Amino acid sequence: MKEAFSRALLDWFDREARELPWRLPGPGGLRRDPYQVVVSEIMLQQTQVSAVIPYFKRFMQAFPDFAALAAAPEVEVLKYWEGLGYYRRARMLHKLALCLMEDYGGQLPRDRKVLLKLPGVGPYTAGALLSFAFDLPEAAVDGNLVRVFARLDAIAFVQGDVKAQREVRERVTGLIPDVRAGDFSESLIELGATVCLPKNPLCGACPVRDWCRAHTLSRTGDFPLPAKQADRPVSRLTYLLLEEDGQIYCQRRPEGLLAGLYEFLALPDKAGPRSKKKALALFEKEYPKLAGHDADWTWLGEGRTVFSHRVWEFAVWSVKLKAGTLLLEDEGGDANDPAAFSAGELAGLPFPAFLIPWRDGWIQDRLTPDF
Ligand code: SF4
Repeated sequence: MKEAFSRALLDWFDREARELPWRLPGPGGLRRDPYQVVVSEIMLQQTQVSAVIPYFKRFMQAFPDFAALAAAPEVEVLKYWEGLGYYRRARMLHKLALCLMEDYGGQLPRDRKVLLKLPGVGPYTAGALLSFAFDLPEAAVDGNLVRVFARLDAIAFVQGDVKAQREVRERVTGLIPDVRAGDFSESLIELGATVCLPKNPLCGACPVRDWCRAHTLSRTGDFPLPAKQADRPVSRLTYLLLEEDGQIYCQRRPEGLLAGLYEFLALPDKAGPRSKKKALALFEKEYPKLAGHDADWTWLGEGRTVFSHRVWEFAVWSVKLKAGTLLLEDEGGDANDPAAFSAGELAGLPFPAFLIPWRDGWIQDRLTPDF
């Protein structure tokens, strides 16, 4: 079975594999460039291929290798990641580059155990690196492969279950052929991404349907079991677009989901359109140095953003100070303290995707001439 299965899969892969910018031969006879494998796989976590492609191309132009990435400041790396989401990935990738340059001569080790100790490298990325780049007989198992093998073997794996991933890794390892290990791993990923789709798998086009129990039983919709949906806690906050004399106050988040990214002044509760009084009180409590001055307050609207484990609901106010009221001097304090930025400077700062429309709207207003 093993040989016929891998032959059918590899023949299909040779005919049907998508051309993707990270699927090129690597340097020095390597199957793929390990750097490009790491960057693409980290970008592809939780993100569609079509969304990743333009980011990947721009990233490669800016940071063509680990040395270039390590030499860049984190804020620049985040700027190239802006809009892709899950910014922790960018920070870990940057840390990985620094670690490799410092301790490994800029080279990725070819050992799973060592790889797993590196920043941002989990079991899937380690398997992808070893098989895709170094052509080693290592399994790369993500959620898509759990789905494929739940159907092939008609096993009620639960999507996202770590134990299921371990079982599938063992199963895949037992199927890897003696030659073309990297092609085999990549072809399984391709199968999960293009044929064995979450809903309505394209069994008529599947190269391995003869081995698929779920297909034989006409029960492809029963595998895998859906992951339990945890209730996502909701956080509420208010953003202030505090501006003075054509400049706007922003700050960098020191920690959490959006660490390293910029945002407007943030108050830890949501003050809606009828709650200017509440917004003012929160402002005075959170930013005593900035509050307490004459300003025009205008309600701008509300937004909602859904992260993997939580939801943020936020209100947005414009607060216009009279020219010359504040203009905080840089006192050489914490880099995360609020500071005033011009429209040009603001455009160069990395912002989370859900705030980009508000940021760009503010910039656009500054650039639109009065008439
Ligand atoms: S036959 Fe259908 S369900 Fe089975 S592996 Fe292929 S695409 Fe998936």
